[in-house]
Amino acid sequence: MQRLRGFLRSVFLVDIAKGMWLTLKYTPQPAFTFQYPAERRPVSPRFRGILRLQVEPETGAQTCIVCDQCAKACPDDLISLGGHREPGQKIKILDYFDFNLSRCSFCGLCAEVCPTKPVKALIMSEEYELGSYSRETQILRIDQMYDGLPVEQYTR
Ligand code: SF4
Ligand code: SF4
Repeated sequence: MQRLRGFLRSVFLVDIAKGMWLTLKYTPQPAFTFQYPAERRPVSPRFRGILRLQVEPETGAQTCIVCDQCAKACPDDLISLGGHREPGQKIKILDYFDFNLSRCSFCGLCAEVCPTKPVKALIMSEEYELGSYSRETQILRIDQMYDGLPVEQYTR
């Protein structure tokens, strides 16, 4: 019975007809294609891109309190940071923040534990273009952590 059914399917080209029907069904719909890199697809709100440090949007002041929680939370020890305290100041100044992008698994633990409010000092940005030509450039220093990596703009 099974063999007869298979024989009839191949004689009457059932599988080809099914495939053609699927093709016809999707042909009139607009193409869901982005002309990358000239066009970049918007990412979802919970997307986890390259880590980024944030400042206070109005004053530009440092939001990181140099608590080291992000470095401790990272399972691969990819964050190294340090700061100093000015005499009479309560909050430490962030001196360096090194992040090894090359081994990051984008788990988000570091950003999750960052305690500052209302502006989170450490977030996962929407940047996803991670490629570079050397290992050294995969270590992001404090300036790149604030400003992000330069993104090449292309036009069609
Ligand atoms: S996203 Fe995960 S792996 Fe990457 S630096 Fe943060 S804690 Fe470490
Ligand atoms: S980025 Fe956040 S978790 Fe990391 S040291 Fe600064 S305040 Fe603490």
